[in-house]
Amino acid sequence: MILILATKNKDKIREITSELTDFDLEIKSAFDYPGVPEVEEDADSFEGNALKKARAVAEATGELVLADDSGLEVDALDGRPGVHSARYAGEHGDYLANNRKLLEELQGVPSQDRQARFRCVIAVGPLSGEFCTVEGTVEGSILEEARGENGFGYDPVFFYPERGVTFAEMSTADKNAVSHRGAAVREARELLKKHLSARQG
Ligand code: IMP
Repeated sequence: MILILATKNKDKIREITSELTDFDLEIKSAFDYPGVPEVEEDADSFEGNALKKARAVAEATGELVLADDSGLEVDALDGRPGVHSARYAGEHGDYLANNRKLLEELQGVPSQDRQARFRCVIAVGPLSGEFCTVEGTVEGSILEEARGENGFGYDPVFFYPERGVTFAEMSTADKNAVSHRGAAVREARELLKKHLSARQG
């Protein structure tokens, strides 16, 4: 059986796929379905966008689909960039510009007021005709300058206090073990497992 990851974000594909090994599913991504149109992520919640992406790709392909919508919420910015995380500085997915803008906006904000969290909502379906959502979050804070070369997006400025490093200073496996996306994918795995065993049983 095929599971399509409804994204062309290679970083998300790497992180999600690494949590879905040992699964009896053939993992594909939006790169394998170039004819499927891009979905406009215009909902005002992660959940709305994740469901929109999953439903559109499932409808266009007839396959089982997993879609991630995620972003960074910074308390001192009233939850921004939130659902606009990918295009915070203008262009979609310009990680350097996004981080530069974030650090500028937080200039002068003391370290104790720089709390932030990553949030990830994953929509998966159709499971017996329904689309389900699961969510993961991870708490941290925003540093005053970038550190580390791994990961993507806001990882170099996202400090994870339990390990004393940024997400960009962690391996994919270590990040997945504690991240918003890792937590959401593990929940999605359970949904998929139940669905697959019900189909086989
Ligand atoms: P989406 O494609 O609309 O879900 O955009 C997600 C955006 O949120 C990415 O482009 C990143 O800027 C940010 N983001 C989401 N998850 C992560 C993460 O694990 N690390 C760093 N940035 C992330």
